[in-house]
Amino acid sequence: MPALPEMPPPQALIGGEWVATSGTLAVEAPARGEVITRIARGQAEEIDEAVRAAGDAFAGRLGDWSSWSARRRSEWLLAFAVIIEADHERLAALECADTGKPLTQARGDITACARYFRFYGGAADKLHGETIPFENDFTVMTWREPFGVCAQIIPWNYPAQIFGRCVAAALAAGNTVVLKPAEEACLSVLRLSELAVKNGLPPGALNVVPGLGSEAGAALSAHPAIDHLSFTGSPATGTLVAQAAAEHHVPVTMELGGKSPQVVFADADLEAALEAVVRGIIQNAGQTCSAGSRLLVQREVAEPLLARLVERFSALRCDAGEADADCGPLISARQKAGLEARLEAARADGIRVLAQGQLAEGAPAGGHFVVPQVLTEIPAGHDVVREELFGPVLAVQTFEDEAEALALANATDFGLCAGIWTRDGGRQLRLAKGIRSGQVFVNNYGAAGGIELPFGGVGRSGHGREKGFEGLRSYTRIKTLAIRHG
Ligand code: NAD
Repeated sequence: MPALPEMPPPQALIGGEWVATSGTLAVEAPARGEVITRIARGQAEEIDEAVRAAGDAFAGRLGDWSSWSARRRSEWLLAFAVIIEADHERLAALECADTGKPLTQARGDITACARYFRFYGGAADKLHGETIPFENDFTVMTWREPFGVCAQIIPWNYPAQIFGRCVAAALAAGNTVVLKPAEEACLSVLRLSELAVKNGLPPGALNVVPGLGSEAGAALSAHPAIDHLSFTGSPATGTLVAQAAAEHHVPVTMELGGKSPQVVFADADLEAALEAVVRGIIQNAGQTCSAGSRLLVQREVAEPLLARLVERFSALRCDAGEADADCGPLISARQKAGLEARLEAARADGIRVLAQGQLAEGAPAGGHFVVPQVLTEIPAGHDVVREELFGPVLAVQTFEDEAEALALANATDFGLCAGIWTRDGGRQLRLAKGIRSGQVFVNNYGAAGGIELPFGGVGRSGHGREKGFEGLRSYTRIKTLAIRHG
């Protein structure tokens, strides 16, 4: 297991200063099941101060953020990407210890975080409105303006990546930010914020208040002085957050869960599909909103594909943070207990575990491991094919033809991602149109995490888009200017 890196102090970032809170929270390393450090426990009071600081920075009463041109913001974001890259290994070690994910995956997350700053740095000075043809004696145009204070509530599964996705886009558009990271894992977020302040981000542009969801999170989503709210997390919490924001008519972006299908037809490149199916569910131990947690396979190739799936899953090894581990632990004892209870209930309903991976020799006994597994013989409409399990568990169903594949793919209230594996171009398009989801990947799954691609859900997976240029637009609102020449 990699050595523990130096930990950030238990403080909140408010108005450019690192401040202690009245209490702190323990942070546990999921791979060890041991407390490794403490973080600040922000409450309504600190949230209020952070929102005020962000409002002051936006209005020009604190620091000089409000005077920065789009070009200057662009230059800072581009330079910050280089700073993240220079600290890559230290950040990856923190992410690995804090979330339990294998070091290789943590490294990929830090690389992606830097790419968000580079992408949004490059885009910051290319965002513009339109001129609109109207009556001859009018000139009509739209401006894209920042909202003001953007509240961001993010989860524990990809802290550094989601920090990059939300913070870089909001700052690029000229907003200021109050971020409430997850209590389970936020060390990389604190380190990144420390780097941002040390490297010239004006005070109040970014404020970070760690704390519990029920305290700091609830206070932030209900705060009357926020102008926009972006939430990434579970649908249940998303409902609470959206209700609180609605009280003050604050616009929200909701990135919630998923139950995404990978649909494999007989004419597909089965080996390529197999690899993508395995990776799509073991990445981050299945604790990924876009995890491909359902495999729908055409009956005529089910037998050979499942035989290969058994081989692959049986060879998977769970370990603590090691670079070559296939799978890390779940984030907490609570997540592990919840998943195990649901798997036990599934087995009691006659669902079969077709194959499973193993714990690596020497994996720490205290880690919250659940081995990757494949479920088959699932009764129609069962929970395991409709509800998010948030673990390395693949639910397999078979289908006869395209119509049945589409019906099964859409048999959930979630709609985040879908993978379609077929060489038939017409079928690719028919299914892509018919599937109710925010993203469809044909003959790949996840487009290698492309940060340039807009991302978001339909239905219970949420609404609004982050990532890509669309993500930048979503941190602006349009003002229409109609000038009558007279
Ligand atoms: P969660 O919703 O409980 O927590 C997410 C964040 O919300 C945390 O920062 C938490 O502190 C905060 N929070 C909790 N209660 C709150 C409240 N009452 N008011 C305001 N904030 C509150 O989520 P979780 O169960 O810890 O995380 C897993 C879930 O997140 C999964 O369902 C997963 O699919 C989803 N997720 C979605 C995406 C996406 O991009 N769509 C990404 C990651 C995770």
